[in-house]
Amino acid sequence: MNDETSDPRSAELAQNLSAVQERIARAAQAAGREELPALIVVTKHFPAEDVIRLYDLGVRDVGENKDQEASSKARQVRDRLRARDAQAYDADPLRWHFVGQLQSNKARSVLGYAEAVHSVDRSSLVRGLKKAAVGREAELRCLIQVDLREGAQDGARGGAAPEEIPGLAEAIVGSGGLRLAGLMAVAPLEEPAAEAFARLRRLHAQLLAEHPGADMLSAGMSGDLEQAVAEGATHLRIGRDVLGQRHSAR
Ligand SMILES: *Cc1c(COP(=O)(O)O)cnc(C)c1O
Repeated sequence: MNDETSDPRSAELAQNLSAVQERIARAAQAAGREELPALIVVTKHFPAEDVIRLYDLGVRDVGENKDQEASSKARQVRDRLRARDAQAYDADPLRWHFVGQLQSNKARSVLGYAEAVHSVDRSSLVRGLKKAAVGREAELRCLIQVDLREGAQDGARGGAAPEEIPGLAEAIVGSGGLRLAGLMAVAPLEEPAAEAFARLRRLHAQLLAEHPGADMLSAGMSGDLEQAVAEGATHLRIGRDVLGQRHSAR
């Protein structure tokens, strides 16, 4: 087909990808789920070339956690894939998911490439996204990130407390340009992932009772995807097990 699919790195990514897909299929089967959850490959710290290789391997959903890195990577990838065949790319483009902590003043930039933000955790960010989304054609899918640490009140952001979910949901729903898409969480280190994801699933059921369209449940990373699939995750965010070890210097 094209040169990017025959180099050693592409072969490595293909192998990792199929191993992860195999794990997802097995976990779904064990949980008695007929529909497979979607795989979002988290490409942070890896170059545009790898995203292009993943595209050639059929990946369409990718995740990033820093706006500066993501915005230039998304532009590079789009330009290079469109240079190959603009029509084909526009008919079947990549979808960028923003999964990291986000400052409100970066909202405009993120809206330039992302179609979903998984990390909405405070009303000031909802306001920033809402302002940036004015006049935009497609709605931005917003997931509320939940802090699953029990009783955590240390102010280290990385999710809203469970009791903040209803208020944030209302704020998102009342914003033209934004769509309430669901919940996201990262399993805390302090307890088994299965228990934390079980709580997340109950919180999601409560949200769905009020907002039936908020059907995305974004949970599960390389180390805990099986537990997330067992607890009903609809979107898995997998980095290392597809791309390899990240270098911590960045
Ligand atoms: C990096 C990251 C992931 C992927 O984690 P891996 O352990 O590399 O699979 C998932 N979600 C978020 C929010 C991340 O920042």
